[in-house]
Amino acid sequence: MQASGGQGTRNCVSCGRQIAFDANVCPFCGHDYRMQMMAPVPQKKDSGMPVAGGVLIIIASLGYFLVGGLMAASGSVVFGLSLGASGVVVACGVLLLLLGVMSLLGGIFAIQKRHFGIAIIGGLFVIPSILGLIGLILVAISKDSFES
Ligand SMILES: [Zn+2]
Repeated sequence: MQASGGQGTRNCVSCGRQIAFDANVCPFCGHDYRMQMMAPVPQKKDSGMPVAGGVLIIIASLGYFLVGGLMAASGSVVFGLSLGASGVVVACGVLLLLLGVMSLLGGIFAIQKRHFGIAIIGGLFVIPSILGLIGLILVAISKDSFES
């Protein structure tokens, strides 16, 4: 952006007054020249795919919450098992809840296009669900959209 060199001043494009050639901000009208310098930043590909994938992963994770919550809450009441077996059922329910939390987190990160690795891990947990599988694929193929 260097015009005829050697000149110490130029005219402000906004107010027309003389200002220092390398001034960042016009002292008269406040026109900010740094914005112009920052303008040609290469734009990221704005794809909706990670968002769609994240939503699908979150929906799929709700299945974990539903099943896990039911198992953890009801235990022996539903299955009529002995105390030890109901403990196993409750433990399985809690494990499913944890899987739900992980996949929910992955879905949220996918929507925010942050932490690609965690988004993928969250998607892996919901593979048993067809929605989760589609979501994982959508997130995986839009890796470029994520902040690195
Ligand atoms: Zn000015």
